[in-house]
Amino acid sequence: MSYTGKYSLNSNAVAQATYKLLEERGITTTHIAELVHFLQKDYSTDLTVEDCIVHVEAVLSKREVQNAVLTGIQLDILAEEGKLISPLQEMIENDEGLYGCDEILALSIVNVYGSIGFTNFGYVDKLKPGILKKLNEKNDKDIHTFLDDIVGAIAASAASRYAHRKQAEREGATTPPLD
Ligand code: MG
Repeated sequence: MSYTGKYSLNSNAVAQATYKLLEERGITTTHIAELVHFLQKDYSTDLTVEDCIVHVEAVLSKREVQNAVLTGIQLDILAEEGKLISPLQEMIENDEGLYGCDEILALSIVNVYGSIGFTNFGYVDKLKPGILKKLNEKNDKDIHTFLDDIVGAIAASAASRYAHRKQAEREGATTPPLD
């Protein structure tokens, strides 16, 4: 494509691409909401998976988050197609332990929601509940080196968003925290 002068980007298109790619990679907002529920259920016994969806959607509405999702999934897809330059191809293909850029990209999501987000991210990364277990099962065709961390990070962020709001509610704040 030739450069025609002004670059302009439709934010809506970025948001739509984010949802579409997640869906194509087998991830629904309910899968992520289940992880949020897993993280928060001991603190809020009346919390339902449905309640968590709203927080997942709020996290997914942020551009920083959408950018990370698009970048990570793109790299997973290119690795599945064998299109990356060696040795990056082999590192992502084999989810090599010393690689680590998948976690760093996911931290750009968690970053938006403060320190509870970091704790939650580490916790789901260690336990791999729900959909994260499935994403980590190795087979010959699917590569989810980036996606597993991204999904964990969205869930961790949504859980912190919920926790911050719950705290504000307990303190009788008249307006909810931003975001
Ligand atoms: Mg990973």
